[in-house]
Amino acid sequence: MSEQRRIVPFDGPIDADVVLPGSKSMSNRVLLAAAVARGSSSISGILRAEDTEAMLGAIQAVGAIVESTGDSAVVTGRGASDDPDNEVMIDAVQSGTTSRFMLPVLAATPGNWVLTGDDQLLRRPFGNQIEALRSLGADIAELGEPDRLPLQIRGRRLAGGRVLLRGDVSSQFLSGLLLAAPLMTEGLAIEVTTELVSRPYVEMTASVMRRFGVDVGCGEREFVVAPGAYRGTDIVVEPDASAASYFFGAASVMGGRVKVLGLGTDSIQGDVGFVDVLETMGATVTKRTDSIEVSVSGRLAGVTVDMSQISDTAQTLAAVAATASGVTEVGGIGFIQGKETRRVDAVVRELNRLGIKADVTEDGFRLVGGVTRPAVVDTYDDHRMAMSFALLGLVSEGISIDNPACVTKTFPSFWEVLESLRPERSMLKVVALDGPAGSGKSTVATALAAELGVRHFDTGAMYRAVAYAVLDSGVDVEDVDAVADVARRVDIKMDDRVVVDGVDATTAIRSHEVTAIVSATSAIPAVRSELVRLQREWVGQQDGAVLDGRDIGTVVFPDAPVKAFLTASVEVRAERRFAETTGQTLEDIEADIERRDHADSTRTTSPLKAADDAIIIDTSDRAVADIVAELVSLTRAAWEEEGS
Ligand code: C5P
Repeated sequence: MSEQRRIVPFDGPIDADVVLPGSKSMSNRVLLAAAVARGSSSISGILRAEDTEAMLGAIQAVGAIVESTGDSAVVTGRGASDDPDNEVMIDAVQSGTTSRFMLPVLAATPGNWVLTGDDQLLRRPFGNQIEALRSLGADIAELGEPDRLPLQIRGRRLAGGRVLLRGDVSSQFLSGLLLAAPLMTEGLAIEVTTELVSRPYVEMTASVMRRFGVDVGCGEREFVVAPGAYRGTDIVVEPDASAASYFFGAASVMGGRVKVLGLGTDSIQGDVGFVDVLETMGATVTKRTDSIEVSVSGRLAGVTVDMSQISDTAQTLAAVAATASGVTEVGGIGFIQGKETRRVDAVVRELNRLGIKADVTEDGFRLVGGVTRPAVVDTYDDHRMAMSFALLGLVSEGISIDNPACVTKTFPSFWEVLESLRPERSMLKVVALDGPAGSGKSTVATALAAELGVRHFDTGAMYRAVAYAVLDSGVDVEDVDAVADVARRVDIKMDDRVVVDGVDATTAIRSHEVTAIVSATSAIPAVRSELVRLQREWVGQQDGAVLDGRDIGTVVFPDAPVKAFLTASVEVRAERRFAETTGQTLEDIEADIERRDHADSTRTTSPLKAADDAIIIDTSDRAVADIVAELVSLTRAAWEEEGS
């Protein structure tokens, strides 16, 4: 059993500026270019993670001199001119970029090289690149399976010229050939014979090469590198845009705002485009030259999107979309099945495990936003599975991430940075009043809120509004999934009036028909988690509130500084209701109250009961004013204490 990390949900919206480590993709391109350049390069902002350590190891194995401190390094290139006879082993560990960038460089550098990696990398494809390099005269032999690592490479000067390459498996093959092209005497023209995935990564490669003085032309299907050596330079690596997606994702699922510093409109990373997808879903995005900010209020909407150009953020989107409303369809990413794990399969399987409806489609996945259930998420040793699904743990209780250490591949400090976004616990100015029907909660809550000058929220009315919407939509009350769907979709506005999907239902939610089914619909866990979320969101927007219901002190706000549980005998409660209603006998009302008492207190999720630290108030023989006065003084004292 590997280690697991239980994610503790955030209890409110995020408000954070974030500094992130350097881009993995840019770090590895820059390190490699510096290693084959003439002269020294001074690099800052380098990501220090498994994938970049692999590249640092690889460039030193081919003779570059690296002096590094923290995220900076001075790299002195070897000019690619040595011809050692001894066999040198290069271990790319789990790093796709290191292996796919090094292979062409090794093929074009005189020497006797062996390129290998860990088990996961040995399963990933290399065929397209091997084939292209062989057509250029490279001497490469598979030591294991065909088209897989480990490879023995007898490096030699390559003339270059023209080569054909598929572009639909991994753009890393093309980036690798481009990076090695200046080492070839005639330069290189690469013609891509299929659709090209992840083009922004190829543009990033070209951009880095230009910074090192190499002339690269990027056409629609043709990429041309003129012969000529890399020249050492000073360069700053940008913060990692793929890593930034998790923090933009955090603001998307929790609400609030996240600004990533140092990443802006001039970024050479394609994954900054992730925020455009969030914008389509309803987020507000502000891009500046030196920062990108995402702010979100309310729930985002599902989206249909082709992510072939930003596929490393597809898993982040899956997590965000799981909390959004409606359907999300991500296409153009069939090829990510060949990444660290079969990523589309992994996303769908883990969403299903969490109770989210999701399917694999022809070239991606489709899911329906909803409410998750507790589970341990399998990460398949894929850093992006861990970081993406962690977002769902910020929203809901009970989500754990298996093998959380797999993030070290690209983001060793991920968990600490995520934790740094946790909102400071603000003073919780809440009074929780729970109790059975007719116990006087509503009357007391209304008067108490008025005395305290804060808003009152009748959560029972909200559960009634859902029951009303269920009746209205004609779905079968027994159909748990359909009722849960209604709860997720319905729009409830509660001020003085209760408006359900635009219709004033203030009176209708008190009808006998609604009362007859409300305990059943309220017992459905997905209904409860949706309404609990809305109640917490509402309180987050208030400066103090009184909430009455069945589970406020036990589940919705277990940390409420004031909790009271109101009771009265069944007879007293029935008489109170009898005085308020028409058309029902006292006996009917008493039977109804007993039935609801039983249903509410015996259900498995959030049963009606007093919180251990609630004061119990029997309202049978007490005046409302007297109870309110007692609660006002209790509340004032408690709120002052919380605030101090
Ligand atoms: O408070 P009221 O009697 O209007 O609530 C109607 C029903 O809504 C209750 O019988 C209960 O089933 C449900 N409810 C709940 N949790 C709350 C408030 C009400 O389950 N917090």
